[in-house]
Amino acid sequence: MAMKKRVPMREQAPEERIKNFDSVPLGYSKEEAIEEAARCIQCKNPTCESGCPVRMKIKEIIDKIAHEDFKGAFLLSKQDNAVPAMTGRVCPQEEQCEGVCVLGKKGDPINIGKLFAFVADWARESNIVDQPEIKENGKKVAIVGAGPAGITCAVDLRKMGYQVTMFEALHLAGGVLQYGIPAFRLPRDVVDYELAFLEEIGVDIQVNRIVGQNVGFDELREEYDAVYLATGAGAPKFMKIPGEKLKGVYSANEFLIRVNLMKAYQFPDWDTPIICGDKVGVIGCGNVALDAARAAKRLGSKEVYILYRRTKATAPARNEEIHHAVEEGIIFQEMTCPSKMVGDKDGWLTHINLIKTRFQGLDRSGRPKPVNIDDSEFEMELDTLIVALGTTPNRLFLNNAPELDTFDWGGIKTGDNFETNLPGVFAGGDALNGGSTVIAAMGNGRDAAVAIDEYIK
Ligand SMILES: Cc1cc2nc3c(=O)[nH]c(=O)nc-3n(C[C@H](O)[C@H](O)[C@H](O)COP(=O)(O)OP(=O)(O)OC[C@H]3O[C@@H](n4cnc5c(N)ncnc54)[C@H](O)[C@@H]3O)c2cc1C
Repeated sequence: MAMKKRVPMREQAPEERIKNFDSVPLGYSKEEAIEEAARCIQCKNPTCESGCPVRMKIKEIIDKIAHEDFKGAFLLSKQDNAVPAMTGRVCPQEEQCEGVCVLGKKGDPINIGKLFAFVADWARESNIVDQPEIKENGKKVAIVGAGPAGITCAVDLRKMGYQVTMFEALHLAGGVLQYGIPAFRLPRDVVDYELAFLEEIGVDIQVNRIVGQNVGFDELREEYDAVYLATGAGAPKFMKIPGEKLKGVYSANEFLIRVNLMKAYQFPDWDTPIICGDKVGVIGCGNVALDAARAAKRLGSKEVYILYRRTKATAPARNEEIHHAVEEGIIFQEMTCPSKMVGDKDGWLTHINLIKTRFQGLDRSGRPKPVNIDDSEFEMELDTLIVALGTTPNRLFLNNAPELDTFDWGGIKTGDNFETNLPGVFAGGDALNGGSTVIAAMGNGRDAAVAIDEYIK
């Protein structure tokens, strides 16, 4: 019998969506979700579950969807994942659950991410809420940073009965989910709705509180039974080439914060200062670079280039994002490495110099290694340049916690149970791993919650 193909996802047409910040995928209908879930062959040993960092019961959830038990599927997904509508949309499923789906060997793997997003959206529209029973245990935990790692640790600890207080530097909780990933991938009503769950179950979220600046780290250690550091990796890396301080050159973080957190995406009704010229270059080809490029296109830039020293086939960005970027007319200038940025007499960027590259052997991570080709330098006119080359942990907090053991690159050192060298202080997420993924940070948050519970008990 021929294997059924994946139920296609309806999407906004590229020529329409580049004029707005609305979600690109339009989501499954009930009928489509049931049909897609019914393709699952319910493997005896579900490989899809083995690689999920938060240990979701994928097989059982899909079975419930196939049998139209959406409520059951939603409540089961919430047991292990505080924010299933968000992870359904942004997880790199092709490298995890969907990447090992048995159906993928000969055809299309189950569309696990979109099914989970469907169920969570259905629950929101149907006013189905998860109401865990919480028995207070009288102990208090402070969490520094309200991104995916902090959120997950907070929810798990709260369910165990802890009084949890989160300290977040920005004016909104969510970390990268709020300030980094644009609304066309992660609609803001979805973010707000899933974050509201934390306050509903009694997590106290204190925004505009920067630990190490307007909240003392030592005070937290004295006042709380344990502290979880989930401060992320928000400091951008640069190439250290000439011209990086020219006007018109941004870090991707600054650009995306202006777009998302300061609402430049609500153009023309919102007047956040953001300079986004006609010809924009973005250095890098990860999710961050593509988010910046696709946001620039939506802000009205005529030509947007991804400048990358490898090829898009070897890039770290999610396949879906590369596919969407190509459809939207983002131009991939592959196998080119920036050498300098050049400006006019007033200090505004005018162009970038690029050197062509070729592959030679493998680098330390096992990826093809790009090397520069002699005498291949050329100029490209640009009026805006966005640097998206990864991030490291912010020094703001670390400089105020000199007794905390860290790596030279700024990552916090911990033992296997996520405890740092300071008793009762735990850490996780990007603060520990450097730039990683939402679900990896959430997996860290879950493991740390168990370790903190054991420590306090
Ligand atoms: C633009 C962009 C796109 C991405 N796309 C994807 C994707 O598609 N899929 C995916 O899986 N991953 C993606 N990632 C990576 C993913 O978002 C991160 O790995 C994840 O958010 C890390 O979670 P975290 O909780 O460790 O840190 P963060 O999300 O960075 O949250 C840390 C929080 O701590 C706060 N904080 C920092 N210092 C302090 C302090 N001193 N006091 C109080 N609060 C503090 C910060 O303000 C922030 O809110 C993307 C990242 C970016 C930047």
